[in-house]
Amino acid sequence: MASDQTAPDQTAPDQYVFSDPTTRYPRISPPEQHQDEPGLQSRMTPVPDLGEDSYRGTGRLTGRRALITGADSGIGAAVAIAFAREGADVALSYLPAEQSDADHVVEQIEAAGRRALPLPGDIRTSEFCRLLVADAVEGLGGLDIVVNVAGKQIVQERLEDLSDEQFEATFQTNVFAMFWIIKAALPHLSAGSTIINTASLEAYTPAPMRIDYATTKGAINNFSKGLAQQLAPRGIRVNVVAPGPTWSALQVTDGVPTEELPEFGSETPLGRAGQPAELAPAYVFLASPESSFVLGTTLTVTGGMPTP
Ligand code: NAD
Ligand code: MG
Repeated sequence: MASDQTAPDQTAPDQYVFSDPTTRYPRISPPEQHQDEPGLQSRMTPVPDLGEDSYRGTGRLTGRRALITGADSGIGAAVAIAFAREGADVALSYLPAEQSDADHVVEQIEAAGRRALPLPGDIRTSEFCRLLVADAVEGLGGLDIVVNVAGKQIVQERLEDLSDEQFEATFQTNVFAMFWIIKAALPHLSAGSTIINTASLEAYTPAPMRIDYATTKGAINNFSKGLAQQLAPRGIRVNVVAPGPTWSALQVTDGVPTEELPEFGSETPLGRAGQPAELAPAYVFLASPESSFVLGTTLTVTGGMPTP
């Protein structure tokens, strides 16, 4: 079952090619599979598509310097590759156990002719988050874009089974780290800079077995809408991307029950899960000056799953 490869198992035409969204990617039916957190995307079946063979850059982020968390795999990795192809240098945050996934993304960024700065470490402490930002600023020579994508999602059927430790760790990873990273980055961000956080469909429709996770996603939305208003006069824009079911390592590391994996994403109106590559353009839009009048918004990329 384990493929241990870095190339995606499916690909698509580039994002500017006219195509039918129901079939742009195949309807996957992943076999039951399990890895311990945080998991390696290269060992998934099928391997998610980060846009390696499809994302086409057009210079929309030329000369920008971005820090992206969760940049080794899934949505964060697709964003890192897209940003590099749009002309940005990228500092990548991820856990040390994910080094091999990160190496693949670093290769892609360097192949695009941009700088990749790998910064492994655990974002669940304020000390590390401050160090992460300082290293990114030093390594990239400044910072214009901060993208918080890292997230923790573990199912627990009953509230009684949701340990205090998990509840705390989910908030540390999804909410506290976002706060610590943005707070440390702000002194370095000039007018024109952009901050993008990652919520979820579950900010609006919480799954009963992901109480802690869904609550953090509601908090991320709310935090971002408040902060967007606070930072607007300084010319710094804050926005959110809320993904729907997207095939990534999160699902095979207890993010959804293993027996539900073969059906993953089939509930969307498009009838299929999204691929990380399909999330990247939303982040590119919110990071670039073309969205200059867009702030405090949540761009939902859910395959049609409705949100308020
Ligand atoms: P993913 O597993 O590929 O990415 C999550 C990343 O979070 C990991 O690669 C890891 O590097 C990082 N991370 C987790 N704990 C960390 C820690 N303590 N320190 C440092 N890094 C840590 O999965 P993904 O689906 O690409 O997830 C990215 C984001 O998208 C998450 O915030 C997730 O909640 C959100 N999201 C995903 C889906 C989906 O269906 N995949 C849906 C809605 C929202
Ligand atoms: Mg990962």
